[in-house]
Amino acid sequence: MFSMANGFGNYSQQAVRAAKYIGQGFMVTLDHMNRLPITIQYPYDKLIPSERFRGRIHFEFDKCIACEVCVRVCPINLPVVDWELRKTMRKKQLNSYTIDFGTCIFCGNCVEYCPTNCLSMTEEYELSTCDRHGLNYDQTALGRLPGSVATDGTIKTVPNLTSLSKGVIEGYFGSRGITNSWTL
Ligand code: SF4
Ligand code: SF4
Repeated sequence: MFSMANGFGNYSQQAVRAAKYIGQGFMVTLDHMNRLPITIQYPYDKLIPSERFRGRIHFEFDKCIACEVCVRVCPINLPVVDWELRKTMRKKQLNSYTIDFGTCIFCGNCVEYCPTNCLSMTEEYELSTCDRHGLNYDQTALGRLPGSVATDGTIKTVPNLTSLSKGVIEGYFGSRGITNSWTL
């Protein structure tokens, strides 16, 4: 009789514990039902990178003095600066400038140390290609200005983004599916 009562007591304790755990799980589910999705449907929705985002490098050929500082400060000596000395002008003449984004780690050192500010980091991050050699950008490709996400007419609306809690997504630009933060 005593063992039966003991068994019943144990069973009751286990049942209460199980109910407690189920309740906790249910509360988590309910909590998440109150939240709005923070994912976006890329590529139809896009994020606007933050102000200091280190995207594809932009290069201004006319401002480059072929000093090769960018090569020396690059952890992998990546930029290829092809120049020749014009003896009559006693000046370096830049012939070509390339950066291979298949190898670049986007550390920003070259941009930071360039004495003429002819390098800058853009917000462009869509660099994928079927051929990795296509990532080796010459001065023409590097000189192209990136299109801004904010003016991309193909972006769809993401409803209710403004309702997300403060600090999760800052700002919402009209009816477009974009935010101004990467820190989702
Ligand atoms: Fe040109 Fe600037 Fe590199 Fe010097 S540091 S070679 S100016 S890009
Ligand atoms: Fe080199 Fe960094 Fe500049 Fe890329 S961003 S080219 S890795 S210094």
